[in-house]
Amino acid sequence: MAHVSVPMYWRTIPQRYRLVGHKCKACGAINFPPKGVCKGCLTSSDFEEIQLQGLGRVHTFTLIGAGGAPPEFAEQEKAGGSYPVAIVELDEGPKVIGQMADVSPKDVRIGMRVRAELRRIYSEEGVIRYGFKFVPAEGA
Ligand SMILES: [Zn+2]
Repeated sequence: MAHVSVPMYWRTIPQRYRLVGHKCKACGAINFPPKGVCKGCLTSSDFEEIQLQGLGRVHTFTLIGAGGAPPEFAEQEKAGGSYPVAIVELDEGPKVIGQMADVSPKDVRIGMRVRAELRRIYSEEGVIRYGFKFVPAEGA
């Protein structure tokens, strides 16, 4: 089970809260979450920060049912039922994985417009963890 320590978690807040990506100065690829080496050209580590808009399309999705949920989803799993987790292709290019919210699992479609919103994800050791979830954004 992956355990994110509290200090590690707080260090990652800028990305988790604000969807800040790294734009490679060599090839222009946008990396999110930021990595040590650009995944576009696999050589450069020279980046500038860019603010992602959080808008994108569902590239693919899956329904997570009983068992096998990663720890950040375990609380929701305990509440019962399956829930959709999508890989979203952001308008800026990166693909990110996130839980869907404000939508019935049966209504999730590949290609639907979604927007990242900051939501409570789960709590652990008394600390409430926030992160982004994707909500429908038709017309955006
Ligand atoms: Zn690059």
